[in-house]
Amino acid sequence: MTPVDILAIAAHRDDVELTCGGTLIKAVSLGRRTAVIDLTAGETGTRGSARLRGEEADRAGAILGLAARENLGLTDAGITNTPETRARLAVAIRRLRPQVVIAPALRGRHPDHRAAAELIRDACFVAGLAKVEPSVPAHRPRKVLHCVTYREDFEKPTFVVDVSAEFERKMDAVRCYASQFDGLTQAGEVYPNGEPLYDIIRHQAAHYGSLVRTRYGEPFFTFETMRVDDVAALEVSTF
Ligand SMILES: [Zn+2]
Repeated sequence: MTPVDILAIAAHRDDVELTCGGTLIKAVSLGRRTAVIDLTAGETGTRGSARLRGEEADRAGAILGLAARENLGLTDAGITNTPETRARLAVAIRRLRPQVVIAPALRGRHPDHRAAAELIRDACFVAGLAKVEPSVPAHRPRKVLHCVTYREDFEKPTFVVDVSAEFERKMDAVRCYASQFDGLTQAGEVYPNGEPLYDIIRHQAAHYGSLVRTRYGEPFFTFETMRVDDVAALEVSTF
């Protein structure tokens, strides 16, 4: 398979649409190849069924312009970071050979989200260890980003991607999950505030956009400090 530039990995179908869907759409418009791995199939979800969520994920993936979308089939509501799950995810990462991996936030209400964030970081490292699953050539992604959308209890984002031009298509992708979201006021990491869920998503994106003086944004965290070469070209005005 042709390597992808960016691979977003998350616990559940619909997670990437909520947290980094605009960023993935924008990457495709910039000529990047993107893919998604959903770690679980959603078999314990309260609403809908695993089969229906699969159909919804396929439709949303087409809107995101993904080159591939895979499901790892880990236990829903029971994701663990073990040598076995790391090796299984590492093999999937090696097949797609991404340069950048997007993972969930390291904090979250749903235990799967926290476990997935740790599992994904570790699997990216393990993917570079040639003697683990030696039948598939080793490949370690260059960089791991963590989505921090909706996480007001986390550190400040390292950077925000301007998704103003992509935001309505992101919402189209989110709305593919009608079985999960229609009529709701809360989901996953999205705390309820009385508004319909789709309005909360819009207002959160507008908040992150305002941090970088644009209409809509998606925030990310990296442990690494970002390097700058030309301070005269720095974006986001002070005043
Ligand atoms: Zn989730």
